[in-house]
Amino acid sequence: MIEEYLPLAYLNAWEYCPRRFYLEYMLGEWAENEHIILGNHLHRNINEDSVIQEGEITIRQQQWVWSDRLQIAGIIDAVEECYGQLVPLEYKKGRMAQHLNDHFQLCAAGLCLEERTGKTIAYGEIFYHSNRRRQPVSFTEQLRQATEAAIAAAQSADQRPMPPPITQKKKCQACSLQSICLPFEVRHLSGENSHAQ
Ligand code: SF4
Repeated sequence: MIEEYLPLAYLNAWEYCPRRFYLEYMLGEWAENEHIILGNHLHRNINEDSVIQEGEITIRQQQWVWSDRLQIAGIIDAVEECYGQLVPLEYKKGRMAQHLNDHFQLCAAGLCLEERTGKTIAYGEIFYHSNRRRQPVSFTEQLRQATEAAIAAAQSADQRPMPPPITQKKKCQACSLQSICLPFEVRHLSGENSHAQ
């Protein structure tokens, strides 16, 4: 069982692909590609601890949060406060869609914020840079349970062998660890069809 607090960003990696999580978090592998570099570039303006006032809304950037109950910790890109209501906000470079990995990371951040403040966080928002839209994500009971299940699964990853490559070719093509993971080669050698979508 992993004993340190699981970083929120690695929960995102777990949901994207458990093998990627294993390579990055368990084995310390790292590689950049254009998606990573673009994501870092887009974060350059929010990677500082600052407080911005926009009318009734107070925006606190780069908020460090953690949950002792769930043993997770990390930085939320921003937390907006309006009339006492807190809304965690994450910035992502892609397009608005149902990216469950982003939802899990945001929900986990919301769970941390609830534990730290004692307030109920009803929803968070993800700003997708490609289409400049903010997507609200409700922290439903179903999402909370799924997020907590993913946290528990990621935290026990060290008790299982490295997961096999996933079968979603598009994810692998966008993954910076492809040259380390060799998903198509591994699946080919194991006799699987490596061209599944
Ligand atoms: S290349 Fe594919 S299987 Fe390998 S770590 Fe990346 S997403 Fe996972």
